[in-house]
Amino acid sequence: MTGATFPASRGRAVVEALIGTIDVNAMLLSEIDGAIGDGDHGVNMRKGFTRARQKLTPTTDFVGCLEILGDTLLTEIGGSMGPLYGTFFEEMARVAAGCPEIDAGLFGSMLDAGTDAVLDLGGARVGDKTLVDVLVPARDAYRGSLAMGGSFANALDGMARAADQGRDSTRDMVARIGRASRLGERSRGVVDPGATSCALLLTAFAMSIRELLSVTDAEVPAT
Ligand code: ADP
Ligand code: MG
Repeated sequence: MTGATFPASRGRAVVEALIGTIDVNAMLLSEIDGAIGDGDHGVNMRKGFTRARQKLTPTTDFVGCLEILGDTLLTEIGGSMGPLYGTFFEEMARVAAGCPEIDAGLFGSMLDAGTDAVLDLGGARVGDKTLVDVLVPARDAYRGSLAMGGSFANALDGMARAADQGRDSTRDMVARIGRASRLGERSRGVVDPGATSCALLLTAFAMSIRELLSVTDAEVPAT
C-alpha cells in the first residue's frame, strides 16, 4: 500500500502523547467521575500511565511502548479502567508486532482489534454511556474515511472528530453498565468519564501520528 507511514522506531512519541494528555487532564477526569462515579478515574489513569512512562527507554519502539502501557494497566491498575484500557493497548500492540512501518491500513487493524477486545471484555454497547460510545464511532469514522479514499491524516482527523462527538453523545444518556448505572436517571446530564478519557486518547493518537507522518510522492500536494 502506498501513502503516508511512520516508522515504528519513532512511535514512542505517540505513546508519550497519550501519557501526557492523561497526566494533564487527570483532575478533570476524576472530577467528572465524581459526578456519576466514585471520583477515581483520573487518578487511576494517571497512576497507570505515569508508571508505564517510567518503564520506557529511548529505544522502546511503538509496539514495545504499547505493550508496556497495556501490561502496566492490566497488572497494576484496578477499577474498570485497568482491564479495559490494558486489553485495548495490548491488542493494538499484538496486531502491529514485527511491523517496521505503520501505515493507515495497519493502524485501522490495530484500532479494530483494540475496539473489538473492549466490546468482548466489557460487554457494553453503543448507548450504554461508556467509552464504547467513543471507540465504536471513532473506529467507524476512521474506516469510513479510508473507504472513501481518504489519506491516513484524513482518517485520523475523522476519528478524532467522531471521538469528540461520541463523548458529547454520552451527556444525555442514562448509564446502563458500570458503577454509574446504579444512579439510573440521575446519571443523565453529565458526560461519561471513560468516554472523556477515551476521546482524549484518540485525539492524542491522531495529533501525534500526524506529526510523524512522512508523505510519499503520491501524496505531496501540488505547489
Ligand atoms: P470504576 O468504575 O471501577 O471506578 P473508573 O472510574 O476508572 O472505574 O472508570 C469508569 C469508566 O469505565 C466509565 O466511565 C465507563 O466509561 C467505563 N466502563 C465501566 N464499565 C465498562 C464496561 N463494562 N465496558 C466499557 N466501559 C466500561
Ligand atoms: Mg471510578
